[in-house]
Formats: sequence, C-alpha cells, structure tokens
Amino acid sequence: MSNIGSYEERLRGFDWTIARKALDWDESRDILNIGWICSDRVCERMGLADKTALIWEGFGERRSVYTYDDVRVYSNGFASFLAGLGLEVGDRVCIFMDRIPSLYISFLGVLKAGCIAQPLFSAFGDESLEVRLASAETRAILTTQKHVKKVRKILEKLPSLELVILVEGESEKLREGEILYEMEKAPRVESFEVRASGPEVPSVLHYTSGTTGMPKGALHVHGSIWGQALTTLWVLDLKPDDIYWCTADPGWVTGTSYGIIGPWSLGITQCVLDSGFTAERWYRFIQENRVTVWYSAPTAIRSLMREGDEVVRKHDLSSLRHLASVGEPLNAEAVIWSQKVLGLPFRDNFWQTETGSIMIANYPGMEIRPGSMGKPFPGIEATVLDLKTHAPIEQPGRVGLIAFRPGWPAMFREYWNKPDVYRSKFYGDVGSKSPRELRLDPGVWYSSGDRASIDADGYFWFVGRDDDVINTGGHLVGPFEIESALIEHEAVAEAAAVGKPDEVNMEVVKAFVTLNPGFEPSGDLELDIMNFIRKRLSPLAMPQEIEFTEKLPKTRSGKILRRYLHALEWGEDVGDLSTLEDD
Ligand code: ATP
Ligand code: MG
Repeated sequence: MSNIGSYEERLRGFDWTIARKALDWDESRDILNIGWICSDRVCERMGLADKTALIWEGFGERRSVYTYDDVRVYSNGFASFLAGLGLEVGDRVCIFMDRIPSLYISFLGVLKAGCIAQPLFSAFGDESLEVRLASAETRAILTTQKHVKKVRKILEKLPSLELVILVEGESEKLREGEILYEMEKAPRVESFEVRASGPEVPSVLHYTSGTTGMPKGALHVHGSIWGQALTTLWVLDLKPDDIYWCTADPGWVTGTSYGIIGPWSLGITQCVLDSGFTAERWYRFIQENRVTVWYSAPTAIRSLMREGDEVVRKHDLSSLRHLASVGEPLNAEAVIWSQKVLGLPFRDNFWQTETGSIMIANYPGMEIRPGSMGKPFPGIEATVLDLKTHAPIEQPGRVGLIAFRPGWPAMFREYWNKPDVYRSKFYGDVGSKSPRELRLDPGVWYSSGDRASIDADGYFWFVGRDDDVINTGGHLVGPFEIESALIEHEAVAEAAAVGKPDEVNMEVVKAFVTLNPGFEPSGDLELDIMNFIRKRLSPLAMPQEIEFTEKLPKTRSGKILRRYLHALEWGEDVGDLSTLEDD
C-alpha cells in the first residue's frame, strides 16, 4: 500500500495541518528549524540516532557512512563554528563543493546557525560564481581545496564576502585569511541551541537554472518543511526501510528539497554518488546499495536509454520499487522504456525552484498517461490561464499558462532584490502589492511561465516554456511534442526543437538532434526523420531543417537550452551563459 493511498480520498477535506500530523509534530517541544528537524529531532523524538542517514560513495572505492547522530553532532559543529566567527542570523552562507558529506551536513549547520544557505553547483566557473555571490551579498563561503581557486580569483570584487572557509584541505596550502574547518577532526559539539526558528524565517536562497535568462535568487523559509515532508511521503512514497537515491545536486532545488530536507526530516536512509555519470556505475550503485526509491531527471534517463538495455540486464536492480522524475518534460518514450526495461515506470512530476516543493505529479498507484505530468498535489490549486485574458481555461485540451493559487507552504517568499520581477509572475489584481500580500491573496494567480493543457480527467500535459513555443504561420507548436516524437525515431537519442526565421510563415521548426550509437548523419536520414514527424504529428510540426550535432547545449542542471539555439538561428545576442554546461 502506498503512503498516499487513494488520491481522490486525499483531496477531500485536505488542509496543510495534515503535514504536521504526518510528522507527529508537537508544538510544545518541536523547533521549526530545518537543520534541527533533520538531525536532532530524528535522534531524540524519533529515536533513530543510530540509524544510517547517509551512505556516500565517491570516485574509486571511496565510501563512508553516517548515522543520524553523526549528522546531528557534525552539523552542530558547523553551526557553532559559524556563530563563533560572528556570522549573524540572516547572513548568506554559500556552500560550494562537490557532493561530499560535508555539503549535506554543513547545509543543516548553516540553518541551525540561523543563516541562509546558498548552495551553488561546484562545476560553476569563477564568473558564474561571482554573479550569484554578488547578487546575494554573500558573507561567507564554505568550499574545498579543489574549488577555492575560483573563489580567490573573484574575492577582491566581492566586498561582502568576508569569510572563506575550507571544509577539507591542507593548512599549509591556505592563503592568508582563509580558515580550515574539518567536521570530523573538529571537537564534538554535543548540543547547539538553534539561533532562529519559525515558519517565516529565511532558510535557503536558491538560484534558478537560468534556462530562460539571468538566474534569479528564490528565497525560501523554514515553513517550507510542511510541503517538502508531505510531498516526500505522498509522491516519493518514502517509508522507514527505504534506501533512497536522489541524483540531483544540492546546487539545484531538487537536491535540497528532496536530496536533504524531505528524506532527512522523515528519518530515511539516503545514498549519494559523487562520481560522474556512466550507466554502468549508476546501475552498480543501485545494485550494491539495494536502492528502493530513485528520483532522477529526464536528461539522465535519456542518457541511460542511449546506453541500451544490455547493461541493465547485467545488473540486479530488483530492489527498486518506485521511480520518479523531474526537471524537464519526461517524454512518453522514456516512461515506456523504463516500464519495459526496469519493470517500473518513471513517474513524472512538475515543480520549480520558486515552488519549493512538488506541485503536479503522477502518484504511486495512479494510472499513468505517458507524456503527462499528472495531477495537482492535494492542497495545490492549479489551472491553466488563457494566454491573452489570463482567466482560467475551463475547456479541456486548450493550451494556457500553468498557474497556481499562491500560499502553499514551500512557495518562495521573494526574488532576492527583485520585487518587480516577483510581481511580474502574478496575474489578477496585482497592483503594487508587496510579495507578502501577493502570497496571501486568494484572488491572484502565480504563473510558472510554462504552457500546458488539462484533459477532461484533470491530467496536465506540458507543451513548452512560454518563451520556447514556436509560432509557425499563426499556429502555435510546442517543442515538447516535436521533441518527444523525434526521440521515438530509432536513430534519435536527444532532440531540441526551436523556431527559425521564415519569410512566409514567420517561423518554421528547426530540430537539433543527437544520434544513437550505430547511426550516421546523412541527407537520407534527415528526410526520413522529417517524414516520420509529418506522419506522427502534422506538416506544420515537421522540422524544415534538421541539424545533426554531437551534443545539445544544456544548463548545468541538465536542461536543454533552447534559448541559446534560438538566438543562434535569429542572429541575436545569446544573453547570459553563466549557466551553460561546458565540459
Ligand atoms: P530559469 O527560471 O532561470 O529560466 P529554470 O526555469 O529551468 O531556469 P528551475 O526552477 O530549475 O529553473 O526549473 C523549473 C522549470 O523546469 C519549470 O518551470 C519547467 O519549465 C521545467 N520543468 C520542471 N519539471 C518539469 C516537468 N516534469 N515537465 C516539464 N517541465 C518541467
Ligand atoms: Mg524558471
């Protein structure tokens, strides 16, 4: 039996206090601070001090295991160290390191110290780092010997950045002013009194992926826990004996909401693999750790598909019982593949950095319609808004903007220093309302900036980002549909569809594709693929040109960067590329 049981039953009489009950929350004893909830509370209130919290594997044979008590003591260590350095409640502390245990544990320490955690992806170069540290006026950065070079390069340009702390390294290699703090070598800190708690206390500042433009800093609060814990229970279906693997890096919101906060608030054992991607390594990780629940992303799933089925058969993946995906639209082909080859479907779900927790999902036990994102989480009022009038669309199948009624617990509270951008995401009687007023206003809609339709049974179908939709001869074509059809062609591994200029039709579809092993680019193949799309979809959706490429441009979080391809086609400025993956 799944945690959610019947989706329809859960909708009835839902209110967010259910999350408190699910956590067995005791208002008189419990402290609303995510750092405390994910460590002290699990040890003391749940009695799981000796349970494994983290199984970590790195390159080679490196492996280490941490109990919840270890996590509690080491995060206390970080918290008391940071407080001792003079960091104050509300200061931004950046966490900039590979997926090592210190990343996960310092995150809790920063929160216990009352500071705002600002996790950034360690593959960022110095420019990407600088943009985000300058934007947040970050006061301290936690990093490692491997990455500190990038910090040194930009330090002079960042007057707010006072403290550079290395969580591993050699003291002889430190520069003047840098501090070394190694959690396992530092004195044990048995107890630490958290310095800030409460639903509206800021917790995490996450920068978006930068898929559509300059990344924005979405500010979250400790009260997000209700949304994160309940979605972890009902969508990811985590239970006490699970071994859970979330492949997202905590530099992105999935890696914190569901790679730290959700599972650890519930006392679940999770594992982390910090050694690049190969299908062989990933399957072996699942086999050896007996992973039961796996949360990943379409880009990874498509890479696994490309590697073929043979490598799957070489491994024992029988421990898996539930799979979920987020981050980009999950092509129907990928759902069908995983059902066939892994024996389980990947269940797609939709949300954003801004939403903080899962908004639309395919729940365990619910019928999957491959290619659909599923239905809104209980307590989430979701709709699609007319593209012109911005009124909710009643008619099934008509495409509009995905929008949510504001006020769910994990909703972002603001864009850092960008109140106007925040306001621009709302429709209705917005006026000059403050972020707080907008969040509590039952008359406005928050728009995600994505397009979808809702079918007669309430399933949401993704079309594309608002900016990515192609207007060809007055007809709007969503890139997702074209790309999904493209990857159904036996030769195509990955695809991106964008509009290119056309005198007659304003825009026509152009596709960029990467090929599966064993296929070579040719004129015949191009024609074959074009015809395939014409028959599958329509002459309108058929690409007028196909460009074969070795790889597609992606954000560092693995999303296809259509705006980049679009700009190249139109001879426009490609804009901010600090987010472009470059390896
Ligand atoms: P930026 O806001 O900087 O342009 P981004 O929107 O890619 O970057 P994220 O918050 O990481 O930053 O991603 C959220 C977006 O990812 C969604 O708005 C949507 O476009 C896409 N997305 C996430 N999950 C899904 C899904 N299941 N199906 C389709 N699209 C998805
Ligand atoms: Mg976005």
